[in-house]
Formats: sequence, structure tokens, C-alpha cells
Amino acid sequence: MGTRASQRGLSYQVKSREVAGGQYRPFACAACHVCETNKEIRLNQPNNNPELIQQKFRAEGWDFDAWNTRGVTCPDCLRKRREGRHGDSGKKGGNILTLHTTQRPPVASVAVAASQGGARLPDKTELTVPERARVRDILIGTFDEKAGQYSEGWSDARVAKEAGDLPIKLIADLRDVAFGPLRSIVELEPLKVEMVDLDKRLREHQRQGAALAEDFGRVRQRLDETAQRLGVKP
Ligand SMILES: [Zn+2]
Repeated sequence: MGTRASQRGLSYQVKSREVAGGQYRPFACAACHVCETNKEIRLNQPNNNPELIQQKFRAEGWDFDAWNTRGVTCPDCLRKRREGRHGDSGKKGGNILTLHTTQRPPVASVAVAASQGGARLPDKTELTVPERARVRDILIGTFDEKAGQYSEGWSDARVAKEAGDLPIKLIADLRDVAFGPLRSIVELEPLKVEMVDLDKRLREHQRQGAALAEDFGRVRQRLDETAQRLGVKP
């Protein structure tokens, strides 16, 4: 964790503030990465303990990652995110469309349903603290916040799988809140879906073609051998 902290820095600061009676006390100060609301939590000890500060912020309803400013979200913004998902979430910017899990094309939903296989308990509605940390660690390495895109080969579904077979929806929620929405150019999306389908069909044709070529070669050989045995031209 030391390397991560020094590479990325901490998502909060510890400051000394004068309190009643003229004494100075340490406070942990952080800002919501969405609305920039500042929050200060008084500390009993002046020592800087990220895990402890994380606990304190979370206890006050914040989503809080001590090592990632994008992981700091105030309770108001968390609530808005949750409500937005069920209500009008059609945020648009030019021809950029925000795709929420509920708005994915049918092909993706089928894949999601299939990959879940009905094996997991459907009732898990929250990630535990260690699960959140695992998911964040993976997202830091695979999700480009500015582009709103995963690295090649990555998706909410793959993060869900690699983080310990977690529900994809919870990954999408955490990614939305802490790292931002998954963006896609609206014109590209149906074409990408079509490409995936065509690629599948092309592979199937290639496989069938190879099988036909093999049959053809085998019958051709029998024809030649039989003709030779009978002393005639094939
Ligand atoms: Zn906020």
C-alpha cells in the first residue's frame, strides 16, 4: 500500500485548527469529487492513519478511499446517483451517450444473465469494505476515467468476475460513482454489437468450411484409391 499511497497521494489532508479554548486540534479534510463539498472530521490523535480516516468518513455516510480522490463522494451525491439511476438518467453531451446497465442493448443483457448463471444469491445489494477495495484496485488499473472507457478486454462483467464473482450491477454502481460513467459514442454502439455477432457467425462458417474441406479430401482420396484398384480413371 505504501507505493500506491506515494504514487497517487492521499485523497485528504490533515490540518491543524484552532478550537474553542485556543487549542489546536488535528482535522482530516476531504472534498467530494463530484460537488466539491468540504468535510472536516476532528481527529483524536495527530498521527495520520489512512485506514482510520477512511473508517471515520464512511461512518458519516461518505464513500471514501483514502488513496483516491475519485473515491471520495459525499452522502448527497451518493443519494443523487442512486436516485438518478431509477429516474431520469439521460445525461447527454453531444453525441456521447451514458450507458447505464439498465440501458444496455439486449445482447449484453443476455450475456450478463448467462454469465451469472443463477448460481449466486440474487440478494447481495452491497459490497463489503474489502470487496470495494479489491474492485477499486482493479478499476484503477483498467478504467480510464477521462475517456470513460475500459482498457481492451475489460468490462464491468470482467471486473465483477476477477474481484470474486460479484454482482455486475454493484461493480457498475461503484464505477459510476467513484470513477465515472462508462461512455460510448452512440453511433458506434449498434455497430459494435453487430460486429460481435458477425465475428461469431464468421468463425462458425470458417469452422464448417474446414470440416467440409476435410470431408472433401477424404472422399477424393477414396475415389482415387478405388479407381486405381479397379484400374480405371477416376
Ligand atoms: Zn458531493
